[in-house]
Parts: sequence; structure tokens; C-alpha cells
Amino acid sequence: MTTDQKTTFRQTKIVATLGPASCSEDVLRGMFEAGLDVVRINASHGAHEKDEATIQRVRDIARTVGRPIGILYDLQGPKIRLSDFEGEPIAVAQGDEIRIAVGRPSEQGEIGSDYEFLDQDLSVGDLILIDDGNIALKAIAVSKGLVVARADNAGLIMPRKGINLPGSSISAPAVSEKDLDDAYFAASLHVDFIALSFVRKAEDVLQLQDLLAARGSSIPIISKIEKPTALEDISSILQNSWGVMVARGDLGVEIPPERVPVIQKQIIAAGLKLGRPVITATQMLDSMTRNPRPTRAEASDVANAVLDGTDAVMLSGETAIGDYPVESVQMMSDVIRYTEQNAVRPTFRRRREDVLESTPEAVTEAACQVADNVGAHALCAFTQSGSTALLAARLRPEHPILAFTTNETVRDRLTLVWGVRPYQIRPTHMTDEMIAELDKTLQSDEVASVGDLIVLLMGAPTHKMGRTNLMLVYRVGSWSGLEGPGHFDDEDE
Ligand code: PGA
Ligand code: MN
Repeated sequence: MTTDQKTTFRQTKIVATLGPASCSEDVLRGMFEAGLDVVRINASHGAHEKDEATIQRVRDIARTVGRPIGILYDLQGPKIRLSDFEGEPIAVAQGDEIRIAVGRPSEQGEIGSDYEFLDQDLSVGDLILIDDGNIALKAIAVSKGLVVARADNAGLIMPRKGINLPGSSISAPAVSEKDLDDAYFAASLHVDFIALSFVRKAEDVLQLQDLLAARGSSIPIISKIEKPTALEDISSILQNSWGVMVARGDLGVEIPPERVPVIQKQIIAAGLKLGRPVITATQMLDSMTRNPRPTRAEASDVANAVLDGTDAVMLSGETAIGDYPVESVQMMSDVIRYTEQNAVRPTFRRRREDVLESTPEAVTEAACQVADNVGAHALCAFTQSGSTALLAARLRPEHPILAFTTNETVRDRLTLVWGVRPYQIRPTHMTDEMIAELDKTLQSDEVASVGDLIVLLMGAPTHKMGRTNLMLVYRVGSWSGLEGPGHFDDEDE
């Protein structure tokens, strides 16, 4: 990597939701070339065959582009919807009475809902929000099989629109049968992450984890934070998840929108503290669904998430159904790069009084400090499980974190992690061979050249997991073995 490349190394990652606008080979390739790191696929009913083809296409393109791409499969969770109906959208005026049929076919003058516990979870006076809160109803009568509600505002009700019940506790299971079916499908294709929507408490995550474990899968789970109850249990949810998503779309319907920006910052800070990757999601460049340029407020939104320290920012409708999917990724990448290079960045270093819990943590922190002090080109971490790269990322260092793993799955998971560029290397047993392998990769990928100063993190003995206990400062191309005196051919040392 020349100095120029080093300064343009983008640290905040980009996730894009796939949909009809972005599943084709050309658009996918265009998005990857514009900097996409992770694709999100929404689990939708009966589309497994199509999803499988998409996943295959993504992997083929990643292989030909020569850069790993993460795949995130997003489970619907206890999302409530109106039923499908034929004919025109239903025009509602303020004060209208809406009759919602529950757990039975709808009759004339009623709208159906797919949620069988609606009558059980709602009480008179509760709020029912339809279509991302665009139509607000208040329950005025609840009986078995029927909810009658009065419209607070006018609007058009369309089939299959989402329902949010902000004040009610939802009895639907965290993982429905459909979710489980989707999760097993995703596991069978070895996607890199599974996201769970509408997580309410840590047990929801554990339940999915157990169900996956029963099938021998340990795919990382990303908990989507979009329910008020999740906010109450956030530290335990973070503790038990691989990562989280600040799912601002539903979150901003379930709680007042003015609370969302502060919550975003709190979740990012909490994730950083625990070393859990955080995705900031929804409407980041919303107007680019229709326009080739974002609003200035949207550009600011992306930049501010970067400054908050988010690991990744996400595109939804912009890339799934929008007119400018490639341009959206490019714009996001441009905003991130400019912000990372020009804004005064907050530091995320540990406070002295926060005690480190393990040797790998202490060694990783020391290595980041040494890398800063010697002006290292990069921090290179040998990591079996990816955890050393996560530990380094948590410190948000200025230099790139180059992660070397023998495990393809681990490599692909690291695509979501702030500041980490992952590589797969062939397994070696001796330290010397590992360093030779590293040198070769760095030079062949042109991320470093002979003479560049590198800080290396590794574990000895090399075959043990979670044993990061060794730091080495060296110049690329200068390594000539651990044994004997003068093993550095480095005039500066
Ligand atoms: P969704 O999740 O796009 O799957 O609804 C994100 C959000 O709610 O913000
Ligand atoms: Mn959502």
C-alpha cells in the first residue's frame, strides 16, 4: 500500500440490501466495485430458491473481484402485517372506524391481519401504527376475532403493510416456524450472519442460537434493535449477540423519532465497549431511491454515524428497489472516506481505570499503541477465530487492521468489522512460515511493500486458538527467522 492507498483505506463498512433493483450480475458487480462490503438478503416467504441463486451469484462475483463479501440473512421475526387484499388501497379519513379481523377470514368492510394474537395483545386505547406509522389508529373496541380502531389521521391503507403496536407487549414467539425454516436454510448455505428482527430480550437471541446449535451451526447472530423492550435489556442483548443493528426504521415508529439519534449513539458506544459490531441502518440515503443525489441531511446522517464510531452503515430501499443502487453505494463510500480523512475523530481508547480482562486484550492494546508510536503502516493480526481483529477494531486505531486467518468463514465475517481488511492464508505451523506467508500476501495484494513497518500480532504456539500473546515490529521483506542473534535485517533497530 502506498501512502496514498493507506490514506484512502475506508474503515467504516457498507451493507446493502438486495432486492429486485440489485440482484442482477451487473448491478451486484457495480456495487462491489463501488465498495460494498456486505449484502443483506431479507427472508421472504417461499423465495429460498431465488435466494440461493443470489447467494451463489454474490459469491461468484466476490471470487472474480478478488475481495471477500459478507452475506447477512435477515429473519423477519415477530413482524406483524395486514393481510393481502384485492382491489384498490383503502382510503381512510381522520375519525374513521377501521375493523380489523383477527385470526379468521375478513368479511365485507374489514381488513385482515396475519397476526393471530392481535385481539389478545391489544387493549382499548392502545395505539396501532400502520405502514411505518403513516396511519395511526387507536383501539376503541377489542373482542375475540375483531379489533375496532379509530383513525387519528387520513391516509391510504395498502395490502401487506406492516403494523407496529408500540405500547403493547407482543405474544408472538421470537422465532416463528417460518423464521426457523429460513434460519436453517441460511445455515445450510453457510451465510456469514443471521439477523433477528424485533429482538425483545436476550433470551430471544439465545433461543435462536440454541436452535441453530441443535443443527450444528454457530453462525453469528445480529440482533436488530427496533423494540422499546430491547432498549431496556440492551447490555444483555449485546453480550449475547455477535453484533447488533440500530434498526431505525421500526425503532423510530415504536418510539418517538426524537429519541432515535441519542439511542443510536448509546448503542454504538455500548457495542464498542464490548467489542460487538454495530450496523446503523435505514433511510441513510433514502431520497436516492428516486434521485441520483442525496439530500444534505442524508449525507450528514452517514457522516455522523461514522463519527459515532459505527462499524457499518446500511442501505435498504436505496439498493433493494431504488433507481440508483450503484450510485448509492458510491455516495456512501465517498461520504465515509471524506469524513474519515477530514473530520477530527473522537478517540475510543480505554480509560486507564477500566481493567482489561485477558492477555489477548492487553497485548492487542499494546500493539495498537506501538503501531501509533512507530507510525506503522498497518497492524497485522493472525487470528483463528477473528477475535484478535475484533479486539483491535474496538480501539479504532488510525492504521489499517489486516487480519490473516486460515478460515474462510472467519475471513468473510470480518467484512463487517470496522477498519479490518481480512485475508485468508494457508495453514502453517511455524512462526517463521506464518511470517513468510504474511509477507507474500501483503506484497502480492499490494497492501504493503518491502520496507514498510508493520506491527504483527500472533499467538504462540501457533496452533492454539485465542492465544494472542506475541507482538513483533518488523519491516516487510526483512524477516529472516526467529532463531539466533541479529534476526532483524533492519538498520533502524
Ligand atoms: P427492516 O429492518 O428493514 O428489516 O425493517 C431495519 C429497520 O427496521 O430499520
Ligand atoms: Mn425493521
